[in-house]
Amino acid sequence: MLMETINPRRRRELRAVLRAGRMSRSQLVAATQLRKNTVLTDVAALLAEGVLREVAQAVPSGGRPRTPLEIDPIARHVVGVSIEPGCVQARRMNLLGEPTSPPAAAKVRSPKHLVPTAERLLRDQLDDRTLMVGVTAPGFIDRSSHELRFSAAAPRRTPLSLAPLVALAGDRPVVLENDVHARAACWLAVHRPPQRHDTLFVGLEDGRLGATLLIDGRPNLGSVGGANELGHNRLPIDTPRCYCGHQGCLERIFSTPYLRHIKPAATRDLADRIRRCDRAADAGLRRIIELLAHGLANAVNLLRVETLVLATRLPDSQPFLDKLADAVRSHVLAELNRRLQIQSHIDTQTQPPDAAAQAALARLFYDGW
Ligand SMILES: [Zn+2]
Repeated sequence: MLMETINPRRRRELRAVLRAGRMSRSQLVAATQLRKNTVLTDVAALLAEGVLREVAQAVPSGGRPRTPLEIDPIARHVVGVSIEPGCVQARRMNLLGEPTSPPAAAKVRSPKHLVPTAERLLRDQLDDRTLMVGVTAPGFIDRSSHELRFSAAAPRRTPLSLAPLVALAGDRPVVLENDVHARAACWLAVHRPPQRHDTLFVGLEDGRLGATLLIDGRPNLGSVGGANELGHNRLPIDTPRCYCGHQGCLERIFSTPYLRHIKPAATRDLADRIRRCDRAADAGLRRIIELLAHGLANAVNLLRVETLVLATRLPDSQPFLDKLADAVRSHVLAELNRRLQIQSHIDTQTQPPDAAAQAALARLFYDGW
């Protein structure tokens, strides 16, 4: 099977083709600095697997026919399955990261139905062109036991075994990934940071906060799959109780229930407050920004990353993210601040199953996924 034939050298070749769009074999030799025979053997294997394809081109008169290579957008696809609180979605994506089927979604009444529902949706998407499967969920995923061990999707029922999904995929590789890791894979596919570069990617949604530490583009996996659990880092303040059993968790602070806890008269939800952030001074939101900034700055001070990415699906959130970035900087050590870039990544388009599929593609193109 394909993934047995994928190694760091072939990932390097695939990335070169992906970046260039199209390139000839000799250009690929030049771009990768590999021996010609090695490249020719690798290209033949990747063509046979339907990962690369040759682009027919007109033959110049008297010249040799040139057949540039490109990532094959048709022969193969990956399937992304996202497990979320109360919902499962699935979708196919080609090897260029373009969705090739409408998303299939199912609401789930009880966490005990999450995995059976995911099985049903996955079965509908699989066929003999499926190269890999990506499965995502919030929380800790133990890749060795295939268990979702602690998750907002099933707070009272974890661990949940994801083994039925792995079994259903047969001999296709299944990438089990924390949902924020998967969104970091989407960011990586677009922003490709330079070598020797550490990035802290933070996903912020109402009541959900997760992080991924990318070291040279590789996610730090920690002792259990969903490393860098920033959401349950705590501050000694009174918040509604988190499902983890504690108070003061950053993901409780960044939530509508906390906004209403400190401003009981508040009628708008957090997303609405954020949308209006650039207009009115809002004491509730200011408090949330200040507390969140403490937590994020502590993480930056500890990890000394070059880039902090503040990522969200919340629309019209740029003024909020700018204020949050300023607040983070006010708490970061001066020596680190000069070296720190803070990027916003507002993505209202990428759906959860798309990110799950991108996590599978990350294993095809990048080492360490
Ligand atoms: Zn918590």
